[in-house]
Amino acid sequence: MGYYVHRDMLGEKGDFITSPEISQMFGELLGIWFISEWMATGKTATFQLVELGPGRGTLAGDILRVFSQLGSVLKNCDISIHLVEVSQKLSEIQALTLTEEKVPLERSAGSPVYMKGVTKSGIPISWYRDLQDVPKGYSFYLAHEFFDVLPVHKFQKTPQGWREVFVDIDSKVPDKLRFVLAPCATPAEAFIQHDETRDHVEVCPDAGVIIQEISERIALAGGAALIADYGHDGTKTDTFRGFCGHKLHDVLIAPGTADLTADVDFSYLRRMAQDKVASLGPIKQQMFLKNMGIDVRLKVLLDKSDEPSLRQQLLQGYDMLMNPKKMGERFNFFALLPHERLHGGSHQRNARQSKPSPSPVAGFSELVWK
Ligand code: SAH
Repeated sequence: MGYYVHRDMLGEKGDFITSPEISQMFGELLGIWFISEWMATGKTATFQLVELGPGRGTLAGDILRVFSQLGSVLKNCDISIHLVEVSQKLSEIQALTLTEEKVPLERSAGSPVYMKGVTKSGIPISWYRDLQDVPKGYSFYLAHEFFDVLPVHKFQKTPQGWREVFVDIDSKVPDKLRFVLAPCATPAEAFIQHDETRDHVEVCPDAGVIIQEISERIALAGGAALIADYGHDGTKTDTFRGFCGHKLHDVLIAPGTADLTADVDFSYLRRMAQDKVASLGPIKQQMFLKNMGIDVRLKVLLDKSDEPSLRQQLLQGYDMLMNPKKMGERFNFFALLPHERLHGGSHQRNARQSKPSPSPVAGFSELVWK
């Protein structure tokens, strides 16, 4: 029904609000994370930032501002931005947020690269519908609240074995949908692990395909992926739900009008990386942002602003992102990295040591101030 294709569902007037829309600090700290990984892996001369499902472009905008502010660190580095977005409406909003008005956008609806432009800071930016079409080069991948929107298969354990949960038309009530169990085993059952102990499981094959693609790319060309979403590590069962106007919404009522979402199963993403790359996390958003130095950033921004409403906004944003009862514990960060990054590559070796010295990865371990 095209829920994501036709509308801007984000923000107060929409159906849900996301961390980058709440506070600029979120995107700034993620920008630092990418620069930190770029530095730790040998400062390649060229890199791509690839974002999946960029919403209004706010997160990419905050990251690009950090890249500009740290221009002296990134100087001579050839950067390009690649956005994977299926929504016509949101891609227009992203272009408004991110691109330089004076440089006209190149559009070609039928091509895999359906739009091209230049960002406000002069970086080339391109739009795609599919990750497969993004050039394969040294890349940093970012997916924030992206994997939870992809469709899941649901399964229920029964005395007869696993049965897939289907959506059916209720024959007794007109225009009413209902959940039913498939009468027999279905091919999708192949997605379930043999040693699965839960009695209800949601599997997202589309997420698996995308993770495999990202893992292969990182293993071949280098880079890293940072994935942030609400989810669990293979423990939760029935999480499929709908949101409309910031309220829970029955997923079977008025399809196409509400945001449908299922928690991301990070254990499945880890399995789909198939050891091609190393993974870190999931760790709670509160811990990740603390490790990235959100408290120091908040203090700097508070010290800089005299306006009470701005200070209030900063403090409220911090609370929303960090409070365990709000987004602090509900959201998780998960990273994919080349194996050498965690087990020590040649560039990380100290000349005097024969053993590799593993560098800690920012956000996933406590920040050490030097
Ligand atoms: N990352 C943003 C937006 C999250 S909403 C934020 O945090 O604010 C989900 C985003 O994914 C939207 O931009 C939506 O249009 C996009 N999207 C949904 N399904 C997609 C798909 N199959 N491929 C690419 N993008 C998709």
